[in-house]
Amino acid sequence: MKRRISIFGATGSVGSSTLDLIRRDPQAYEVIALTAHSDVQGLASAARESSARIAVIGDPARYDALREALAGSGIEAAAGEDALVEAAGLDVDWTMAAIVGCAGLRPTIAALATGGTVALANKESLVSAGALMMDAATASGAILLPVDSEHNAIFQCLAGGRIEDVARITLTASGGPFRTRSREDMRDITPAQAVAHPNWSMGAKISVDSATMMNKGLELIEAAHLFPVGLDRIEILVHPQSVIHSMVEYRDRSTLAQLGSPDMRIPIAHALAWPRRIATPCQPLDLARIGRLDFEAPDDVRFPALRLARSAAEAGGATPAILNAANEVAVAAFLEGRIGFLDIAMIVEDVLNRYSAPEPQRLDEIFAADAEARAMAGQIMERLTV
Ligand code: NAD
Ligand code: MG
Repeated sequence: MKRRISIFGATGSVGSSTLDLIRRDPQAYEVIALTAHSDVQGLASAARESSARIAVIGDPARYDALREALAGSGIEAAAGEDALVEAAGLDVDWTMAAIVGCAGLRPTIAALATGGTVALANKESLVSAGALMMDAATASGAILLPVDSEHNAIFQCLAGGRIEDVARITLTASGGPFRTRSREDMRDITPAQAVAHPNWSMGAKISVDSATMMNKGLELIEAAHLFPVGLDRIEILVHPQSVIHSMVEYRDRSTLAQLGSPDMRIPIAHALAWPRRIATPCQPLDLARIGRLDFEAPDDVRFPALRLARSAAEAGGATPAILNAANEVAVAAFLEGRIGFLDIAMIVEDVLNRYSAPEPQRLDEIFAADAEARAMAGQIMERLTV
């Protein structure tokens, strides 16, 4: 029997890596839905190549262009956020949630509500609405498989262990392209420099997050939802080679680590085949060639995003959603050349200092906090740029 799969964010870095794995064994999969935000040609060609049943473009203004690009293929075209949510509710066996940002939240919740298996790359949705997402998975019986390499590593290290026996989880961090720079030398960093990650090839937003280390902060919050051991048992360790993807220490002081080449197709393949394994075209790990693995403590003075994310996680409630929304706005502005690199964390901190919201009980309350934080970040930026 073919496995029915959908990919949300199919034109992105994680989405394309997922399609690459599926392409290697087309007999095993039936592609139901593929989605993208604005890249009509990329979406249409992925949909044609994989014989998808439906292609959804997030930007409603591009509906006609998508229909035209799919003409004669028999593939259904749809557009807009409601269509994304509807596609996420289709009956499939496996969904890849790889939209970037809080924009992925509604479709991811809809996919979880079907009770199927959801491979989660879209960390921002878990950061903003972790409790609601975990509840949605529990209510439907959905299986949530972490794709983020660190969380996938932890998931693998926990196989055969019990969460009650975990003493400590160590999230490894490459430290990004500016690991050794002073703050003074970070002032004039350009978007091109920030997106050039030393180990991983990724989308622009997560690359900037890696450079500010907000990515590790978001991953701390993500880990706290996926692996409820308590925030004080989750620590961050800088490991520049990105070979150890994370570690779990048990109460007997035995530590398990997961290692591999820095290639997202490895954790994606794990989630795609789970609980089995499939072959990948990825490089085998050559430790003799790598020679040494280095470690250092993270520096939250040079990388204040680490401090901001940990305190947002401790505050809980809507605070992580506010942190995430302010960061999304600031990163987008940085990529457009409107603010400087160091302004990103400064704006996030400013928004966190000015705005708090009560513990959200429903999704619309998360979106309200998200919208308010975005508006506030926008106002702060206006003052910066005049
Ligand atoms: P990307 O920018 O390469 O791709 C993002 C995808 O989301 C694209 O298909 C885009 O069309 C879609 N998208 C963007 N905005 C949208 C919107 N408003 N509505 C609907 N669709 C939208 O990003 P990526 O690097 O593939 O990352 C995707 C997610 O996976 C992020 O949350 C990221 O943090 C996470 N992640 C990525 C990597 C990686 O190696 N790239 C590793 C771990 C986690
Ligand atoms: Mg990661």
